[in-house]
Amino acid sequence: MTEDLIARDGRTIADIERIRFFPATTVGGEGSYVIEEGGRRVLDFSASWGAASLGYGHPAVAGAVSEAVRNMGAISLASCAVGAAVELAEDLLAHFPDDRERRVWFGHAGSDANDAVVRLIEAASPRRGILSFVGAYHGGSAASMSVSGHSSQTHAPARPGLTRLPYPDPYRPQFAPDLVAGALDDLDRRFESELDPDQIAAVFIEPIQSDGGVIVPPAGFFKGLEERCRAHGILIVVDEVKVGMGRTGLYHAFEADGLTPDIVVYGKGLGGGLPISAVVGPAELMNFQPAFAIMTAAGNPVCAAAARAVLRTIGEENLTANAARMGEHLMAGLARLAQRHALIGHVRGRGLTVGVELVRDPASKEPASAETAKVAFRAHQLGLVFYYVGMQSNVLELTPPLTISEDEIDEGLAILDRALEDVAAGRVPDEDVAAFAGW
Ligand SMILES: *Cc1c(COP(=O)(O)O)cnc(C)c1O
Repeated sequence: MTEDLIARDGRTIADIERIRFFPATTVGGEGSYVIEEGGRRVLDFSASWGAASLGYGHPAVAGAVSEAVRNMGAISLASCAVGAAVELAEDLLAHFPDDRERRVWFGHAGSDANDAVVRLIEAASPRRGILSFVGAYHGGSAASMSVSGHSSQTHAPARPGLTRLPYPDPYRPQFAPDLVAGALDDLDRRFESELDPDQIAAVFIEPIQSDGGVIVPPAGFFKGLEERCRAHGILIVVDEVKVGMGRTGLYHAFEADGLTPDIVVYGKGLGGGLPISAVVGPAELMNFQPAFAIMTAAGNPVCAAAARAVLRTIGEENLTANAARMGEHLMAGLARLAQRHALIGHVRGRGLTVGVELVRDPASKEPASAETAKVAFRAHQLGLVFYYVGMQSNVLELTPPLTISEDEIDEGLAILDRALEDVAAGRVPDEDVAAFAGW
């Protein structure tokens, strides 16, 4: 008998980034389901961290990609106007209806996109300061990590000039009695003391802080932050990599806060599983210097065709509205589970970006980190995939494909219900999860 996939993976794939949650394998996929080695189908409430925005094997993506591969010409934007990339840029720019001149940059991942933005801003601005948030995740490359603030990246040095602000968390409010007023007062105080706002080039914002724990900020905070940034000429960079492209029930997640960003970063779901990222920003900045962040195959016609198919399908199948509707259905089901499972401390989200924070005790809100790992592990055993996030690793992150149906949501809720029950009853032994570090 040949060795199984997990053993072969262990002997071949670098361990350096291993953060797995359970013994998952995949040899294929169909719609909202991943097919594991041996043929078992598991329902995927993660959509591969949101990358599989249309699920697996969507005919629109499959068709566009096969055709693009068959007709592939020159692939590099560095030397050629690539038809599919220009068309995709036009599609992306069409979502910015004002008359500001913008340009699009293409990369392969959210990481290189944020990396390019950080370096571009630093090169173009005489200001040396950058603002981001505690718990932020902007990527796994040098510059994107240096403006992040996630507990998984304590090995990565912060960028000189970086200040991390508290990301206001309605479940664990850092300021009282009014979280928004308190957070904005805190910023005003910093601007009057240790931070010179006229020396800050940009602020990096996640409209919902995903890896930090699916934290949905209170209404009004980002608007207040934006006003302060405008007053001091601070560029607003919105990282839509995880939550953009219809996932929150809006094309841009930042629309919920009424923000008008200067720079928007896309990745993950944009390619529907293929690697492509994009930055849209002001022409004067994006054209600042040629050869600034070139990668040979960035904007290649295959990935660009996949992204165009994703955007077209989101429109044709009304997937933004589906995300809003299915998100409500999911949140309502989770609210019912919360009444029966003491582990559930808080359910939050917008559209199909949903977080379930698990705690040992609703009064003390002590993070139920070990239990969270067990719930994800047990759910996988029972046929449902999702991962967990948060600075304390105690938030289930549910980001199903935008194409998911009500029946599939109900199937996932039933499995989650059982997984929570099994963990609370002590039916998932410590040894089972010991080999999985998680996020
Ligand atoms: C995942 C993520 C990134 C990095 O994207 P990669 O595709 O992993 O490089 C950046 N920002 C946010 C908000 C993300 O969730």
